[in-house]
Amino acid sequence: MDIKYSEIFTSFQGEAGFAGMPTIWVRFFGCNLECNGFGQKNPMDESTYVLPYKTIDISKYKTLEELPVFEHGCDSSYSWSKRFDSLVHKKSVRELVDKLIALGEANLGLKADNKNGFWRHPVTNQKVQLCFTGGEPMLWQKQMKAICDEFKERDMSPLQITIETNGTKPFKDFHSMSTTADLYLSVSPKLFSVSGERNAVNVKLLEDYFEEASGWLKFVVNGTDACWEELDMYMKQIIPIIPSDWHIWVMPVGATKEQQEGSTIAKISNEAMKRGYMVATRNHTYVFGNVIGS
Ligand code: SF4
Repeated sequence: MDIKYSEIFTSFQGEAGFAGMPTIWVRFFGCNLECNGFGQKNPMDESTYVLPYKTIDISKYKTLEELPVFEHGCDSSYSWSKRFDSLVHKKSVRELVDKLIALGEANLGLKADNKNGFWRHPVTNQKVQLCFTGGEPMLWQKQMKAICDEFKERDMSPLQITIETNGTKPFKDFHSMSTTADLYLSVSPKLFSVSGERNAVNVKLLEDYFEEASGWLKFVVNGTDACWEELDMYMKQIIPIIPSDWHIWVMPVGATKEQQEGSTIAKISNEAMKRGYMVATRNHTYVFGNVIGS
């Protein structure tokens, strides 16, 4: 099986649950949403959108890593828009797993022959996790399973896996995954008033997720009255059914370090705390500037 992905890289987890944890990332290519409303003046009026990913001259770029961070629209549009097809990578499962191991050894100090397992640091014995992101990784469950199976065959099963999902796709093939890893879902349902996506919050599906795995919800908000009202509306349905070990995070919108600083973020954070939510900032943007591959 060949796997189409936009990037694999190492970095720490930057947002919400397990923030700071060294992580090996697989960013699949493809998403069922577009979220063009992110970072727009009025996400609910698409006639006002500014969308640089639609007009950028792709011929100037040889790799995805050279692309700028898009401050309007989805900041990872390079991981799903057909415009970036020519910059996408394709590898067999075996090749991809080889590359993940090599990256873990080179950048995170891991050792394939560590007696305590590849996914523990050989000096500190601390865990490193595998994270599937996108795009929308739940579109690629067969591929996630194949990667886990390949690690298992090598007796290197991950200890912890996080799947970052937009919460619109049910579990299918991933069920039969042969891994002993602790599985976490980082579910980020998209509010219309922030992302411009209509009907992208599926409370029934969230309930299924709550039964399947541990995890957390992470709502991106822009601090407008419309966004808090929309969040309140969904929370009326979610709070009675969410398990106590699932945290609810609110993350201020903003792809870059500059967008993650300043009074708007502080205001959103204060409002989120007053409403009883955890506050997620995008820590990697302060350290690496949210460049692709970090
Ligand atoms: S779900 Fe995520 S990757 Fe897909 S378009 Fe929305 S923000 Fe981008």
